[in-house]
Amino acid sequence: PNHRCDAIVVGAGPAGVAAAITMAKGGLKVCLIERGRLPGAKNLFGGVLYPHALAEVIPDYAERHPPFERPVTEQGYWLLSPDSVVRIMHKSVHYKTAPTGAYTALRARFDAWFAEQAVQAGVLLITKTTVTEVVRDARGRALGVATDRPEGLVQAPILVIAEGVNNLLTQSLGLAKGDLPPRYVALSVKEVLALPAAEIEARFGLAGADEGVAIDIFGDATLGLPGTAFIYTDAKAISIGVGLLLEELIVHNLKPYEILARFKAHPVVRPYLAGATVLEYGAHLIPEQGYDRMPDLVGDGVLIAGDAAAMVDAVHREGSNLAMTAGRMAGETALEAHRRGDFSAAFLRAYRTKLEESFVLKDLKQYRRMTDFLDSTPHVIGTYVDFMNEAALRYFTAQGMPKREMEGEILGLLRGRRSFFGIAHDMMKLLRGLR
Ligand code: FAD
Repeated sequence: PNHRCDAIVVGAGPAGVAAAITMAKGGLKVCLIERGRLPGAKNLFGGVLYPHALAEVIPDYAERHPPFERPVTEQGYWLLSPDSVVRIMHKSVHYKTAPTGAYTALRARFDAWFAEQAVQAGVLLITKTTVTEVVRDARGRALGVATDRPEGLVQAPILVIAEGVNNLLTQSLGLAKGDLPPRYVALSVKEVLALPAAEIEARFGLAGADEGVAIDIFGDATLGLPGTAFIYTDAKAISIGVGLLLEELIVHNLKPYEILARFKAHPVVRPYLAGATVLEYGAHLIPEQGYDRMPDLVGDGVLIAGDAAAMVDAVHREGSNLAMTAGRMAGETALEAHRRGDFSAAFLRAYRTKLEESFVLKDLKQYRRMTDFLDSTPHVIGTYVDFMNEAALRYFTAQGMPKREMEGEILGLLRGRRSFFGIAHDMMKLLRGLR
């Protein structure tokens, strides 16, 4: 027997759940289909969650006790050379009072909680079920989905596809053109390391459970190649990981878990991890093809949201908030489509317009050249990070040398690495990447 609903959502990640809640609150009968045993069972991120996007979906989310780990009250960058670090960190009491802060979270717990909110809003959550195919009529209009269960089709006039980075359904609809090339997708490996809360607070200089740190790390953590590492404090654990463009891993024949092991053994990093035990280990892809290579966001009866449509801002390590915002907007568009009785791609394009007017596509558009910048100047991170560390060592070491000479030496260090024109060229490209 076929099952009928007003809307189907594929994938119970941040995008899918946001879409499902929005539509259920608007009165639709929503089926949310997730292949994992539980929502979040298969999901992994760094991860810092930005509740501004959550608040738009669940205004009273705070009263519903989301399983956040710690608020982020200090954040910034470490520029790591093989034996040193320059830290650019920002700590502020304002992070404790700001209405739109950031929290560390573990997806296995957060996604389960978020999906539970959907169930409470009336969504029918179907787990342990993989959508295998979008079923369409002769004119290409989506009619519903087939799953790996024997029960038959799930039918609905509108589908929100929020299947994440492995966007097989999006591809099968012709909205994405094949698998992502390795230069446009990053592979991240992460460990969650258990450590008592008091120990975390002592090591990271935190006053208590209401403080937390989020550090993004460049340079030696990824062997100077384009990529980032991260260390985030959870309530009773440290999240640590490294990510590189897949192409760099292939070209340099690197194994991600070896890079993570190397990073953990770095003399600056090791003391933070001493005695911590591995709770979880995982790997995940991040789509980084950017604005110009995003899949089409709509088809007849179909809307695509989140990682499935490459909505990731790697510059600011944002993805979950873009996913939730896009999911909400997909849900709002589906509600309008139901009111009008029009599920055509032409009508659903309103979704793209909403996204263009929001930070989601504005930010992706602004950073559209960033991946190409890193791809075309792979030396850039290692060169400048190593220079900063050597310059700092000279700057902070008194050796009875007149300061002018010391400054000259620092300039010499830079020139030894990159010509004047090389530096100018890098800076221009970086500025273009950020504009
Ligand atoms: P996902 O979270 O991938 O959810 C997709 C869901 O669909 C999954 O539950 C999957 O099981 C399900 N699914 C897929 N196919 C099917 C199918 N055929 N049938 C049924 N179910 C299916 N973002 C941040 O905001 N902050 C961070 O700090 C951050 N750090 C990150 C660190 C790493 C290492 C990674 C990998 C990502 C990070 N991100 C971060 C990005 C963020 O995780 C993603 O952008 C976000 O999870 C996208 O949400 P989504 O709902 O689109 O996809």
